[in-house]
Amino acid sequence: DAVIIAQDVHKWYGNNFHVLRGVSLTVRRGEVVVIMGPSGSGKSTFIRTFNALEEFQEGSIVIDGITLSHDLKNIEEIRREVGMVFQQFNLFPHLTILQNVTLAPIWVRRWPKAKAEEVAMQLLERVGILEQAKKYPGQLSGGQQQRVAIARALAMQPKIMLFDEPTSALDPEMVREVLDAMRTLASEGMTMVCVTHEVGFAREVADRVVLMSDGLLVEEGTPEEFFNNP
Ligand code: ADP
Ligand code: ADP
Repeated sequence: DAVIIAQDVHKWYGNNFHVLRGVSLTVRRGEVVVIMGPSGSGKSTFIRTFNALEEFQEGSIVIDGITLSHDLKNIEEIRREVGMVFQQFNLFPHLTILQNVTLAPIWVRRWPKAKAEEVAMQLLERVGILEQAKKYPGQLSGGQQQRVAIARALAMQPKIMLFDEPTSALDPEMVREVLDAMRTLASEGMTMVCVTHEVGFAREVADRVVLMSDGLLVEEGTPEEFFNNP
């Protein structure tokens, strides 16, 4: 039961920078895939195509049965399926934590405010931020803000969650709390594609690790295969 089927995806930035050079990846429902590889190899660009944040020129991407158009025409449809968490938390600084989480459900999903708030409070509780609901992002630590970003993405009830180096901007003591939230999500059966350098997380949580280099997937395997083969 494949929920992401990317086949032979090519992307150029401008006319001549060939950033994705024929990348294929299939992700099954409930699978956790970790993408690793050197900086600049195209990992972020690749997963951003799944959420229609990046156009691509050749190949095909099907997300839960929806074929992505190359020029981002079905962007709204796809963003309902796919939640994303970024390195920078991207919270709205002038909105409270609760408002950050309810914004999309109210304006995109058209949920009544009371329902959106109820769901948001449950999510904030799950990621351990409930006491901070009335505060503003600037009053929270980086680790707390990132957990709010996870709750915000989950509020849209996505089928797939993408993580783009979610711990890279955090102080070391805050990395664990974010990885724990991701671990819980994985154990609940969420389909996840994570770009991360966290080897411990990859070893313990990933079903599959893929290595990207210079615009191509060059290696893939279970964590055991991946980390034990030189
Ligand atoms: P990774 O996530 O593996 O670090 P990225 O996907 O962020 O790699 O970037 C791959 C390459 O594409 C890098 O060389 C980067 O500088 C380049 N790149 C990223 N975004 C743009 C852009 N908007 N325009 C031109 N080049 C870009
Ligand atoms: P970059 O890597 O280029 O610095 P990011 O990956 O942090 O940027 O974010 C890219 C853009 O996507 C930002 O302008 C951000 O506002 C926007 N964005 C934030 N949240 C979402 C979301 N859930 N879905 C789509 N786009 C988002």
